[in-house]
Amino acid sequence: MLSAAERSWAEERLERILEHEAKEKRRDFIDDAKIEALLEETANPAKERVRDVLAKARSLVGLEPEEAAVLLNNTDEDLWQETYAVAREIKQEIYGNRIVLFAPLYISSPCVNDCIYCGFRHSNSQVRGQTLTWEQLEKEVQALVTRGHKRLIVVYGEHPASDIDFMCESIRRIYATRKGNGEIRRVNVNAAPLFVDEYRQLKEVGIGTFQVFQETYHHATYARLHPRGTLKHVYTWRLFSLHRAEEAGIDDVAIGALFGLYKWRFEVLGLLYHAQDLEREFGVGPHTISFPRLQPAVNTPYATSSPYLVADEDLKKIVAVLRCAVPYTGLILTARERPELRREVIPLGVSQVDAGSRIAIGGYEEMEREHIPEREQFQLGDTRSLDDFIRELCEDGYIPSFCTAGYRCGRTGEHFMSLAKKGFVKNFCTPNAVLTFKEYLLDYASPATRQAGEKVIKHYLAALEASHPAQAQAVRERLQRLEAGERDLYF
Ligand code: SAM
Ligand code: SF4
Repeated sequence: MLSAAERSWAEERLERILEHEAKEKRRDFIDDAKIEALLEETANPAKERVRDVLAKARSLVGLEPEEAAVLLNNTDEDLWQETYAVAREIKQEIYGNRIVLFAPLYISSPCVNDCIYCGFRHSNSQVRGQTLTWEQLEKEVQALVTRGHKRLIVVYGEHPASDIDFMCESIRRIYATRKGNGEIRRVNVNAAPLFVDEYRQLKEVGIGTFQVFQETYHHATYARLHPRGTLKHVYTWRLFSLHRAEEAGIDDVAIGALFGLYKWRFEVLGLLYHAQDLEREFGVGPHTISFPRLQPAVNTPYATSSPYLVADEDLKKIVAVLRCAVPYTGLILTARERPELRREVIPLGVSQVDAGSRIAIGGYEEMEREHIPEREQFQLGDTRSLDDFIRELCEDGYIPSFCTAGYRCGRTGEHFMSLAKKGFVKNFCTPNAVLTFKEYLLDYASPATRQAGEKVIKHYLAALEASHPAQAQAVRERLQRLEAGERDLYF
């Protein structure tokens, strides 16, 4: 039950939202019937048709939703293997071996909404809503930076205790927290949709990406899972949340769907229509796409009984098709997934992952407890330490990156996309990945990880030496400066 104060806050906000929606000029671009029809028309595609689409994907121009539907509907196992191979190729071509690392930081869990699948929903009496005090927040950030994290995504419930002023103040405090060489250089935000003036305040405190998951693009399912009368019930308020963020000047926006609420093929097409509409209006698509799968949560039967839960094999298909369809958009794979599956899915096109994650409120201070169910939104699948995760990445030939230079040099939004499209990501981002990884190795890595990491850097330098000797020299010179104690060097 909501308290009187919570109810009046939510009612007032809902009234403002409905007023806003009544004046919204944008047209809902998700046409459920059209998506269902597309999926029907492309059922059991001929082999040649699938291969034609794969050939187009290989040329890095992206795919129309109709073409993505062909791939999604493929039923031939050999052709799926070909699709995976193309996805791997595209990832290698655009992102190289880099994997960007971040950590989620749950700051506040009380929520006035009642999403049926979420442990934080207000009617869930078995999860205790909690908001970090400033002192606790500082401790959490210190615990993160002493493990080597530089990039966070902060997460809030929708609640008067975590309103826009609270969010801004918490982000200012995160940036101000230091420990040794440790600091957070980029704070991304996952929170409920906001008004344009509220996004402007977030821009002022220097956030990176604003992320909102539509959860499900299917209207009737959306209405059913987000009860009437709650703020989240208003589908278009959420659908255009990132359009409003762009309007407020936040260049990097991130979309996602919570897979397991409706048919996964439908959701992939929903994501693509969403990306297209952002690109149509703002000249640039989303910075990243996430594809979290529904996970078990305390006292939340829907999370394990939904008829649309997605199988591991289908998650691989989702990632590979997205990689083919939006080659320049970052893809985020979260620690919701188990270690073995993450290892299999990353090569198919993932560019960002969280690691060493804890999602209970105050969870980093109690790092040794992998799960604290009564304080968690759902249960994580990969609770390995950042150091262990990084060692595995190195063994698989990846360059872990903590780079945030792109944002600070203004390589965001439209500008970022044009750079990405010219292959600059590899030229700027890989050297910067190496520099930030070197910092990690010097300041935080265990001996075994340092050894594995130095091998990766050596290998990278040898290859660069052969193709771009001058650039290799510039990277070497900066690596030496890092060894001598300088920090935060980038191209
Ligand atoms: N309350 C805000 C909102 O809903 O937009 C902030 C984000 S919420 C704390 C973060 C995301 O967690 C949601 O958008 C949803 O996709 C995801 N989530 C909720 N319940 C989940 C579950 N049982 N398993 C996996 N992800 C879940
Ligand atoms: Fe609240 Fe977000 Fe959970 Fe919904 S998904 S109950 S809005 S925290």
